[in-house]
Amino acid sequence: MFHRLLFCFIVVTLTTCTGCNHGELTVTCIDVGQGDAVLISFPNGKNWLVDAGGNPAGDTEAGIDPGHRNVLPVLRAKGIQSLDVVVMTHPDEDHVQGMLAVARHVPVGRVYWNGFEGSRTEQRVRATFAQKGTSVEAVSAGSRTIVGDVVVAVLSPPSSPILGTRSPENENSVILLITYRGKTILLTGDVEKAGEGELLRSAQAEIKDISLLKVAHHGSDSSSTPDFVRRTHPGVAFISCGKRNRYGHPSLDVIRRFEGAGTHVYRTDQCGMLEWKSDGYSEAVATMLPCNENALRGAQGVED
Ligand SMILES: [Zn+2]
Repeated sequence: MFHRLLFCFIVVTLTTCTGCNHGELTVTCIDVGQGDAVLISFPNGKNWLVDAGGNPAGDTEAGIDPGHRNVLPVLRAKGIQSLDVVVMTHPDEDHVQGMLAVARHVPVGRVYWNGFEGSRTEQRVRATFAQKGTSVEAVSAGSRTIVGDVVVAVLSPPSSPILGTRSPENENSVILLITYRGKTILLTGDVEKAGEGELLRSAQAEIKDISLLKVAHHGSDSSSTPDFVRRTHPGVAFISCGKRNRYGHPSLDVIRRFEGAGTHVYRTDQCGMLEWKSDGYSEAVATMLPCNENALRGAQGVED
């Protein structure tokens, strides 16, 4: 069933370029309910997975594990048998729980994490990777990897971590800036106001006019400050959140802020799995479900 659905994406072409080379970079926001899982497929065939979803309450019942239920089927459907890099942006359950299935069932080249020890689940995930002989490295701002024609730069956590806030784990999420020719993608984990502020200071030029933004912290109003939205000015924003989740994500104010900036906002709770593709010049968004682009529907305080 899933295989069939995977190829029934609804495609919205945003810009086109005739006569361009069509080596494509694809960013897939896998629908894991209330959590994050982003697959990056590079033009040279490499694949990275950033987070793997999980139940925010930490329930590890096998039946609801998004690693088994959502992430592994997507990898299988796309014919991906191994991952070159796995990134765990931060140790919260809704990002790492599904990674246990990945660690057990998929060969992984190396693992990057933010160096903040978290729940027992997160420690089990790292231990499982280590048992398999996979290198697990804490990364911080300044590290970069060249993947064919694509550059992946780590913009956060800063070398001196942000401490003394409500959630240092969130604020010190691994943030990736991916650059492919004229296109840029910013993956922000669950960074909140302090981390966004640090990013605006440390990477002001790099994060201007982003092509695709994975919105921080599931569209919570603890992130996506007016200043951050104005400076990043994304063309497309993906929000990963669960249907009628208990946190009220995404925030109505946040969606209005993006839409006010002219950003096309897509949400996994409305549109299912989301996919952004580009050859570095043109780009297109595809959604698994028919999606009316009314991102305000069902947001905090708005009736479905
Ligand atoms: Zn989260």
